[in-house]
Amino acid sequence: MTVPPFKVRTDAKIAGAPAVVAKLVSHLKEHDFIPAQNEPSCVTYETDFGTLWLKSNDDTVTVELETQTEANQWIMQQFAARHLQELAPNDLKIVWQGHQISSSLPPNARIMRFLRQKKISPTCIRITLGGEDLQYLSEEGLHFRLFSPKNRTRAPVWPRIQTDGTTTWPQGEDELSNRVFTIRYISTDEMTFDLITHPKGQAIDWINTVKPGDEVLITGPGGGYFPPSDKWLLMGGDETALPALARILENLPATATGHVIIETAGHQSRQPIKHPANVKLEWVDKDTAPQNALLDRLCAITPPQNTPTYGWFAGEFAQAQAMRKHFKSFLDKKQQLSVAYWTRNASQK
Ligand SMILES: Cc1cc2nc3c(=O)[nH]c(=O)nc-3n(C[C@H](O)[C@H](O)[C@H](O)COP(=O)(O)OP(=O)(O)OC[C@H]3O[C@@H](n4cnc5c(N)ncnc54)[C@H](O)[C@@H]3O)c2cc1C
Repeated sequence: MTVPPFKVRTDAKIAGAPAVVAKLVSHLKEHDFIPAQNEPSCVTYETDFGTLWLKSNDDTVTVELETQTEANQWIMQQFAARHLQELAPNDLKIVWQGHQISSSLPPNARIMRFLRQKKISPTCIRITLGGEDLQYLSEEGLHFRLFSPKNRTRAPVWPRIQTDGTTTWPQGEDELSNRVFTIRYISTDEMTFDLITHPKGQAIDWINTVKPGDEVLITGPGGGYFPPSDKWLLMGGDETALPALARILENLPATATGHVIIETAGHQSRQPIKHPANVKLEWVDKDTAPQNALLDRLCAITPPQNTPTYGWFAGEFAQAQAMRKHFKSFLDKKQQLSVAYWTRNASQK
């Protein structure tokens, strides 16, 4: 078995290679990727995923990558291949030499089996999937993506990594539905999440038709991490954020402090959540509270003076925008996160 670091390189034949490298460096700069070293013979990038070296001579761009995980190798190979294919004036054949990713599936993906579902409140279905080797998701992940065939009569066709490092996803009749959820509980072989019900949608179609043993694909982690537990936490969200807020609260150390407000459809949709004594947890009943009660009550909270504070919100798009604006009025942008979990009247993509 190969052990990290994983090293790969490609020598891509590209007309005007030095100009293409210069264009790539300038494009990356626009996206705040600044080289650690920029010499005529070699441009070096140190990234969260690993190191990337870019070299060129007259007709060849050489990309070398070094990473600590196969998942990061895959991310960086895709990144490099896509950018070169976009910028090269000619058709490009990219062949990677060195460590080959051991599976045809993206390394951040697992095929899972649907095990069971249970309605745990009038508005929430608890779903359990079975799989293997889920450790990589449990360490820092809060969320995952769930993929299943959009056409519920089709057998699933899963994405495949190509030899150039890019991934092809099934199209047409085999296109996959793709929705983000929050890990509620996870072990090495089972993962549980809560689906908040609504009249119609792709996730609803899936849960209404899935049978025990059916395959799904998950990828992750993604879409946000645990907020810092050493800050005073001002957090809130609607029912789609309940699973995330519950997981965050249940994982906080006993010393954590803050104030959390969660909105549910009604009293019966609340869930018992273990939380530190100095984190106040309140609920808003959407059915009976005045309109905008969740936001109004969150915005009325004043964090204790001279206490570093972190703001966290998730919910419907317009609410998330309003909370982002509120957080920005008194918190640095690194001390806040306000995310749209769903959009009212969105078309189903
Ligand atoms: C990081 C992240 C974590 C999330 N975690 C969870 C989670 O743990 N549990 C969860 O249930 N959702 C979660 N969501 C939201 C979830 O991804 C979407 O709500 C989901 O796509 C909606 O399901 P759908 O595919 O059936 O509806 P879609 O096909 O996306 O939408 C169909 C229609 O339903 C409406 N709709 C969608 N969601 C709702 C809703 N909740 N209430 C009312 N109307 C709605 C839309 O406006 C649209 O008109 C999360 C989202 C993100 C970004």
